[in-house]
This record gives sequence, structure tokens and C-alpha cells, in this order.
Amino acid sequence: MSQEIDAQSNFVYAMIQEDLEAGKHDGRVHTRFPPEPNGYLHIGHAKAALLNFGIAQHFGGKFNLRFDDTNPIAEEEEFVDSIIEDLRWLGVDWEDRLFFSSDSFDVKYRFAERLIEAGLAYVCDLSTEQIRNYRGTLTEPGTDSPYRDRSPAENLDLFRRMREGDFPDGARVLRARIDMTSGNVNLRDPVLYRILHATHHRTGDQWCIYPMYDFDHPFTDVLEGITHSLCSIEYSDHRPLYDWVVDHAMELMPEVAQCRSRQTEFARLNMTHMVLSKRKLRRMVEEGHVEGWDDPRMPTISGLRRRGVPPNAIADFQERVGVARSDSTVDMAMFHFCIRNDLETKAHRRMVVLEPIKLIITNWPEDSVERVELENIPNDPGAGTREVPFGREVYIEREDFMEDPPRKFHRLSPGEEVRLKGAYAVMCNEVIRDDSGNIAALHCTYDPATRSGNDTSGRKIRGVVHWVSAAHAEPLTVNLYDTLFTEEDPEAAGDGDFTQSINPESLRIRTNAMGEPCICDSPPGARLQFMRKGYFYRDPQRPTSEGIIFNRIVPLKDTWAKIRKKSKK
Ligand code: ATP
Ligand code: MG
Repeated sequence: MSQEIDAQSNFVYAMIQEDLEAGKHDGRVHTRFPPEPNGYLHIGHAKAALLNFGIAQHFGGKFNLRFDDTNPIAEEEEFVDSIIEDLRWLGVDWEDRLFFSSDSFDVKYRFAERLIEAGLAYVCDLSTEQIRNYRGTLTEPGTDSPYRDRSPAENLDLFRRMREGDFPDGARVLRARIDMTSGNVNLRDPVLYRILHATHHRTGDQWCIYPMYDFDHPFTDVLEGITHSLCSIEYSDHRPLYDWVVDHAMELMPEVAQCRSRQTEFARLNMTHMVLSKRKLRRMVEEGHVEGWDDPRMPTISGLRRRGVPPNAIADFQERVGVARSDSTVDMAMFHFCIRNDLETKAHRRMVVLEPIKLIITNWPEDSVERVELENIPNDPGAGTREVPFGREVYIEREDFMEDPPRKFHRLSPGEEVRLKGAYAVMCNEVIRDDSGNIAALHCTYDPATRSGNDTSGRKIRGVVHWVSAAHAEPLTVNLYDTLFTEEDPEAAGDGDFTQSINPESLRIRTNAMGEPCICDSPPGARLQFMRKGYFYRDPQRPTSEGIIFNRIVPLKDTWAKIRKKSKK
């Protein structure tokens, strides 16, 4: 990951630089990434995590990983574990600073009591629906709750009893006493605590009241000494409330308050042909549209990892997208570009035929095998070469042969000649069919004068196709992935139901693929380029008893235009 970030192209860096120059926070920089463990991380979260971590590294500061675990109903240990694993894989390092919001429920409770004592919070008996009705609208002010003027003593007593478990869920809440007529709806006496008799994955049954995000988050920033609290744009309207909590924390909790954190919003990452919201991704999993959170078609970090995307490509992508103040949608092609860019100079080339058709070279001596030397990476002698056996029967790609080709089809057809990569040119003489009329094999002849690297035939052979010797072929299963959604903006299509534009061909499985023999030498987890077919990853998660399985990470070229046309028909 490059640390050389141009402050000009990233307004957050520029802002922090200014703060440092102005001597704010005693020259400290401390950031955090605050995921809620209610799902797996997606590539949008990677943006937030890498941004926060990158800032700490760039300015020699600190970075915390903090789980925002304030909602026991949606949160699970499984998600905590997956988030940690995903962030480590991305190269994000929080050293020994792994925190949970729930670690400080005690001190938060104390802060709430002090707000009550200061007349800044009150217990309200209105129901959720009543609170909503009293809140007013964007154009009309709200109305004070009838419980707004309870005395601090009464509020303290009720709040303590809320904590003791004297009341059922929803009976009462603790609210900030700010301003029911504020132009900002978030300041109209927001809820700070609610009653929830639920077992928390870390604190068990110790608590039956839980703090709300808008109270918990800023206060935790203050407790951890976070100098710059970065979050996505949708929190802009919450910033006055963030500041309200921070200001009162500094004033009422001096023994634990570390610093006056400041919130800054940046643009969310959105991508074409993708949905980036845990709620929607959860729906994909729960409704069985995908195999799980780590399905290689998912934009989750675990899905991308399983597909074979290198972590460097994700970091490079985030840097290229940059950090802006307003939302925009990034073309998926840009992400694919970053993946290819990373793998092009690293992935060894191999020949694999995904849908084989047999080619029999009738003038090749029955048992004779020649070895052809091919470069592992073109123009990179350091990457070495390999020997690939060539014999009388080889497989080629079914789509590389056409009986009745259009003009400019520079591959194989009857009476035409094509070069088998690194070997000889062959001419197709006869098409052999099975009983049902399907093409079973192609009879060809080769010309010894056309040997690659020593061609004395004088002919110009236009087409070059990849091949695999039938006698030496390794059978493989290959998963070909396409975008999960056919529409560029799945949320705008399908009458608001993004599942309407799920791509029925997002996974195609080739169970008869054939690879050159040395494909076996690539261990699970290896990334290769299958010539003319794309970059592939040997899936390490499948048991070896299932044979050798490769996932396509990206094709060599994107074919969106084609998808879009199809879906418009
Ligand atoms: P989602 O909308 O996917 O449910 P979330 O915001 O509810 O995401 P959190 O776990 O609260 O999920 O997110 C942790 C952090 O990641 C937040 O600070 C949030 O701003 C940031 N984040 C979430 N989605 C994106 C995105 N698409 N681009 C950039 N940052 C994001
Ligand atoms: Mg959130």
C-alpha cells in the first residue's frame, strides 16, 4: 500500500495537516474504525477502515478498532470474528487497541446520570410512536413531551429503576433535553438510552438498558482520545448532536474525557452493479440468492478474498477513488482494472481449456510427445519458463472453432489454419460428429515447418489459440463469475426491489475444464492467468476430495455493455 498520499487530492489529509500546523490536540492524530458487528464488512467499509488506518500511519498517529456493539439483538460473535479476520487480511493494524463500546457501559451510565443531574436529560414515558408524533417534521417544530419537566431527582430514580429492570421493553426511554423546536430534527430531544431485555454477546445479562448510537459513539470517541472522527456523509445532520455530547462529556466527565473529538464526513463508496449495505447483503444471504456472506460474488471482504482478489488491489482501488465530500458511484470496471493491474506482473500464465473440444492431429505419430517451452510471464525472464507436453490429441476451446464462421474469425474453421500457442499451425480437414449430430472431434493436420520460434513456412498465420494435450490434461472445475446484478444501479431498477435485477448468470460452472499438467503445482491460494480467459484463484476452502477448483477473479476484459443490452431487451 502506498503511503504517499497527496494531501491536495484528499481533503481529510489536508484538514489534518492544518490542524497539526495549528497545534490542535497537542499534535496528536488518533483515528478509529467503528464497525457494528451485525454483518460482514463490505468494500465500502474497507474504504473507511483503510482511510482511518492510512491517516494514522501517514501522520505517525494511532488507530483503534472499536466495535460499536450497542444493539444486542442484531449483533453476534461470528461477525466480530469475521471483521477482525477481514481487517487483518487488508493489512489494517490496531496493535493492542481493540475496543468494544460495551467495555465502557459503566462509565456511560455514569455520564447519563450526570446529564440528568445537570437537567440535560429526562426519562420519558411516551411510546416510540408517540415520540415520533411529537417530534414534528422538517417544516414543523416538535412538541414538548409531557415528561420533559420531571425533576432531576425523579429522573434519577426512574433511570436507576430502568437499569434495575423494573420496566418492560419500550416502557420508558432516557432522552436528551435539547430543543423540540430545533431546525435540526436530530436535536429534538433524541433518545439516549432504551430498555432492552436482551442478552448481549459480551456483557450477557448485566444490562437491560442500552445506549443509542448518537450518544454512545461521540462519548466513546472522547473516552478513547480520538482526535478525528471520520464517518460517511449520512451522519452530517447528526454532527450538532455529536458536538452536544462531546461538549457535555468534556464538562461533566473531566476524569475520563481525553479530548474534544471532531467529526468530519466523507463520501460513501458506491459501485455500479452492486449493493453496498449490510441490510441488503444480509437479505441476499437469508433469501438464498448467494451461498453465504463469503460467496465470491458478494462485495464483502470475505467474498472478495474467496474470489481471489489480492488485498493490494483493494487498497490501490481505494487510493484511486480518493476521498471526496460528496457521494458518487464508481464504475466496477475501475475495480477490475486495479485487480488486473496488480496481477499482470505477478500471475504466472497457464493454458486451461474451459469447454474442451478434441482436436486429433492425424499426421502426428501415434505416441510421440514433444515439449514446448513457454514463458511464465511474458517479457519477464526472472519468472522462468515451463515445458508443456504436445501430442497427437489436444483440447481446444469449443468457441475457438466455428463450422461456418463470420468474416474476420481468426480462429479455427474447416479448411483454415490456426496456430496452437507455442507449437505448430494446424489445418482443420474434417468435423467428426456423434450419433446425435454434435461435434465430437476435429481432424486436423499439422505442418512441421510452422514450429513456433522456427517457422520456415513463410505463411502468415493470423489466429493463435491455447490448447492442452489430451494425454496429459488435468481435469478441473472452474467457477466463472459475473456481476451479481445486471443493472448498473440495482436499487433504481426493479420497482425498488434490487433483487429483481439479480443476474441469473452470475455463476457458471465449468466441470469439464482441462488444464496443462503443471497446474497441479499451483497450491491452493495461488493466482494464475489462464491465457485468454482471465485471472483465476485456486480456491483453498474446498476439500481436496472435490478436485482442483479455480475461481475466476476477473476476465481479461469486461463485458458489461453486452450484459446491459441483454437486460434491456
Ligand atoms: P451499512 O450501510 O452497510 O449497513 P453501516 O454504516 O451501517 O453500513 P457500520 O458498521 O456502522 O455500518 O459502518 C462502520 C463504518 O463504515 C462507519 O463509520 C461508516 O461510515 C463506514 N461505511 C459504511 N459503509 C460505507 C461505504 N459504502 N463507504 C464508506 N464508508 C462506509
Ligand atoms: Mg452504522
